[in-house]
Amino acid sequence: EKQYLMIPGPTPVPPRILRALSIPAIGHRSPQFAEIMKDVTARLKNIFETENDVLILTSSGTGAMEAAVCNFVNAGDKVLVMENGNFGERWVKLNKRYGADVEIIAGPWGEPHNPQALKARIDADKEHQIKAVFVTHNETSTGVVNDIKALREAVGDHPALFIVDSVSGMAVSPLKIDEWKLDVVATGSQKAFMIPPGLAFISVSPRAWAICEKVTTPRFYFDLRAAKKAYTEKFNTPYTPATNLIVALQESLKMMEEEGLPSIWARHEKYKTLVRAAIKELGLEPLAGDEAASGAVTAIKKPGNIDVKKISKLMREKHNIIIAAGQGKLETEIFRIGHLGYVHVNDIIVTIAALEMTLKELGMDIVLGRGVAAVLNLLVKGE
Ligand code: PMP
Repeated sequence: EKQYLMIPGPTPVPPRILRALSIPAIGHRSPQFAEIMKDVTARLKNIFETENDVLILTSSGTGAMEAAVCNFVNAGDKVLVMENGNFGERWVKLNKRYGADVEIIAGPWGEPHNPQALKARIDADKEHQIKAVFVTHNETSTGVVNDIKALREAVGDHPALFIVDSVSGMAVSPLKIDEWKLDVVATGSQKAFMIPPGLAFISVSPRAWAICEKVTTPRFYFDLRAAKKAYTEKFNTPYTPATNLIVALQESLKMMEEEGLPSIWARHEKYKTLVRAAIKELGLEPLAGDEAASGAVTAIKKPGNIDVKKISKLMREKHNIIIAAGQGKLETEIFRIGHLGYVHVNDIIVTIAALEMTLKELGMDIVLGRGVAAVLNLLVKGE
């Protein structure tokens, strides 16, 4: 049966990419594969909008996050983590596991970080004890976009590396790696890249490479020096990569180039506007305020005392629409509608219609069609 995947990753895979995925296996040490790697890496750098190296890892997004820690942080190093959600907490856990001296600047879940808080801490660090600052671009657990440009500016000339998790933010909203001087940026395949889970991408600035060379933290699979060496010498990877996913990535990058980054960003902005208009019309409250709301996912506060698990269960069982519950400490407080990657406005209309029926069934006072009408009115106006 037809299913609507409206979670913030894995996202639906377009037919063009499914066809690319279905080609016979190719040898990972063949000239054919080296050509693909070369092409895909150049195209990835275009989407990352960077001159920095971009490396492809066979892992989920967390693998790139782990690489972003073990290649740039020594045990005992002081690192600063900006934490305002589940994925900020992941930076904390990863850094602690590698023995870093972690200092957390925590912000309320549902709000963006205050760059002033970071600036104050950085300005106080006259001795340059802080070796790296870890931030999350799009906090998937709350539907908040952090202002990476302002956060980077808050660090100014302090030598700490600036390391960004953009797993769900890359190609959803702008991230100017070179212009803003972002040292390390990690992302994954199953979000805006529209391919299945299994690949992660990481960009590394020259400054970060210099640190990588000096760091003594044990690392093997995620040793980025090995990845860079294999690519530089042979347009390859140190270990067997997910070849079919890399073929699919090539197709995805072609699609993204055809559409163009500004149009991709605009499309996600539109989804956000449509979903937020609809839920507000239904009397629901988004967790994030308008100014920092994500183009990738909308988190919605639990309506009254309706169990959010029941909402996703009914959406799935009666309407074949998959939405997400909350994560971490917001697990039972919110539910989330993903709208990134291969999404069409029709998918949003259907999702809102099903949500109306679901909430009515769960006892909420819903006038059927009001949320859908809010979406349609915006579409007719061309917004
Ligand atoms: N960071 C963010 C912001 C994410 O949204 C996710 C995936 N939901 C991850 C990291 C982890 O990625 P993965 O599940 O692919 O390891």
